[in-house]
Amino acid sequence: MRRKLVAGNWKMHGGLSRNRDLLQSLAQAIGAGGGADYAVCAPFPYLAQTQTLLNGTAIAWGGQTLSEHAEGAYTGEVSAAMLADFGCRYVIVGHSERRSLYGESNQTAAVKFVAAARAGLTPILCLGETLEQREGNVTEQVIAAQLDAVVETAGVSGFAGAVIAYEPVWAIGTGRTATPQQAQDVHAFIRARLARRDAALAQRVQILYGGSVKPQNAAELFGMADIDGGLIGGASLVAQDFVAICRAADQ
Ligand code: PEP
Repeated sequence: MRRKLVAGNWKMHGGLSRNRDLLQSLAQAIGAGGGADYAVCAPFPYLAQTQTLLNGTAIAWGGQTLSEHAEGAYTGEVSAAMLADFGCRYVIVGHSERRSLYGESNQTAAVKFVAAARAGLTPILCLGETLEQREGNVTEQVIAAQLDAVVETAGVSGFAGAVIAYEPVWAIGTGRTATPQQAQDVHAFIRARLARRDAALAQRVQILYGGSVKPQNAAELFGMADIDGGLIGGASLVAQDFVAICRAADQ
């Protein structure tokens, strides 16, 4: 039985006082731990604050992206080692907004995945198809290409210390959630594809679902055989909602 993980992705939201309220509420409600693992991925400037307020709790934290480079003349970039310096356990890699807005390719995601793992971080690798791709019946091809690029660069063994998040692009921030069965089908596809290379490892990898997860739909999604928790955007900014989603993963 795989342990579940609920990770919040704040995106470019927040501020010192709002974060303090949110983090203190989370620490109070779920900081002692539960049946699942919890994390929040904060914007870079707030990682120090997040570390201070979550240190000693059961809630981990992480970044939302990272540089593929270890160090150097890359103005504006943040390396994996810098994230590790602020106690990050996780970093999101290949989020669909990075892919669509910042031109990150499957290969970019692959090298960032490797950079994260080298620094001891757990990459949360996002995979997902657009609405056009789903309607064109190429979901599996798209997911396979996204996954295979990372497997070829990092090796399947790279997934021993990684998390995958299936996030259909059409469900992110739209209020339109994949049905539990739609999500389960893709999760099972991802696991089966990894299993072709390493069956035991594929059974252990946590595969999260992301895309308009709310307290109202979390339990049903998390009840599916291959859904091991969630990557939560909008609802992770509301303490009560995020806590309710974490509780659904505790079951
Ligand atoms: C996300 O940001 O990865 C996400 C899934 O957002 P939302 O939960 O708001 O759809």
